[in-house]
Amino acid sequence: MAKVVIFSGAGISAESGLSTFRDADGLWEKYRIEEICQAGCLSWNRENTLAFYDARREQLTSVKPNTAHYALAKLQECYPNDIDIITQNVDDLFERAGCKDVLHLHGFLPRLRCEQCGATQIIGYAKQERTFTCKNCGGSFRPDIVFFGEAAPMYEHLYEAMEDCQFLVIIGSSGNVIAMDHFALHVKHSILNNLEKSDAINERVYTKVLYKKATEAVDEIVGDVERFLG
Ligand code: NAD
Repeated sequence: MAKVVIFSGAGISAESGLSTFRDADGLWEKYRIEEICQAGCLSWNRENTLAFYDARREQLTSVKPNTAHYALAKLQECYPNDIDIITQNVDDLFERAGCKDVLHLHGFLPRLRCEQCGATQIIGYAKQERTFTCKNCGGSFRPDIVFFGEAAPMYEHLYEAMEDCQFLVIIGSSGNVIAMDHFALHVKHSILNNLEKSDAINERVYTKVLYKKATEAVDEIVGDVERFLG
């Protein structure tokens, strides 16, 4: 298991042009979460929900990884067994920067999932074909995204990764969806990088706090991890 866990949220993709949840005038200000990404939306608001995720997939064609994604990919390339990349993000910017085995806790936009048997299918940035059915069981597909109120089976792998973690880095997460402070308390080194303080995070439990853009913080983060791994 890796000694270093890099845990990220919407903030790391913000400089690539993808809105975080809390950006004023951002994408999420224009939608009501309970209508497009809450458990049950696919039954009572199916077409709008699918159209929303079609648009998110299409949006990925107009954005690129930023220097923070690339710097972490390079770090992982140098220490392939020591770095786990774990993200709440559903975009594919880490993969496009070259990161391997990224754990997506809340799903992955370029992928669909059968609502019946769970089989997955990569569709890239295409629109979801509404009549497309699963070749295993005939079930219908949905975006492979964990909606609010749904189970998040990948969390188990986050907990496993944290068992061996000695150095935790958090980049671009407000802590409102997943609280990481208790993990930071149990590791030797921890870095928190956000733009500003969050009410959902106790910054005192981190050994280093960097309130600046991820692209400006990443060199210091990489340097600290390299010194730790030696
Ligand atoms: P959040 O929106 O709650 O918080 C974003 C955090 O990023 C804030 O703390 C902010 O200070 C910080 N931030 C903003 N710009 C930054 C930058 N340039 N550099 C460093 N930090 C920056 O995001 P969250 O904690 O990830 O939780 C919200 C949920 O949003 C997650 O479940 C995630 O799946 C979902 N989401 C994902 C995407 C994506 O996939 N790109 C986009 C929006 C929302």
